[in-house]
Amino acid sequence: MPKSAAKSIIFARSKSRGDKIPTSKIELIKGDITKITADAIVNAANSTLLGGGGVDGAIHRAAGPKLLAECAALGGCATGQAKITKGYNLPARSVIHTVGPVWSGGNHNEERLLADCYRNCLALAREHNLKSIAFPSISTGAYRFPIEPAAQIALNTVKICLEKDPGVLERIIFVLFSDSDLEVYQKSYRDSFPEG
Ligand code: ADP
Repeated sequence: MPKSAAKSIIFARSKSRGDKIPTSKIELIKGDITKITADAIVNAANSTLLGGGGVDGAIHRAAGPKLLAECAALGGCATGQAKITKGYNLPARSVIHTVGPVWSGGNHNEERLLADCYRNCLALAREHNLKSIAFPSISTGAYRFPIEPAAQIALNTVKICLEKDPGVLERIIFVLFSDSDLEVYQKSYRDSFPEG
């Protein structure tokens, strides 16, 4: 098992519909999202889509300059929305770029906009028939969204989408960058999926 996955926990979720039982697996791991092999990884981008620091910078460095060229033609992205590109040199086939809200005290629609990010990324994944998607912790770095409510929003929004569309996505991976972020997401997972 690679070192980055040493802290992973895996939960299986299923929901029955007739005889078929489609299953979506949610994984919480500590690691570097640029190393993840999936149909898509999500980039916590800024509204220019022209690259930045944090996970955005890491994704552009790993994907190579063709990613920036494709992003430059997209005309930016509004907060809460998402756009898809190829993955170029990344192990992931695609990158879904979403723009999280900057935390401004909590009274500026930050929670709704963060939920929109997760919802719109999942909708794009569905539209493109992707089966696996990896998320970083959107907005909780330079954009200063507090990690506990951010984790709750991330997991609850994914839960609601999976319940609406069971089995469409087979694998959802949350890639956390530190032990403490991973622990917060693990706790939120237990709150969102108490049966799971
Ligand atoms: P935002 O501007 O949306 O807050 P950041 O990139 O500053 O985005 O931070 C979002 C989260 O991504 C933070 O928890 C940060 O630690 C994490 N992060 C940074 N680099 C990586 C990476 N290579 N893989 C996964 N997560 C990362």
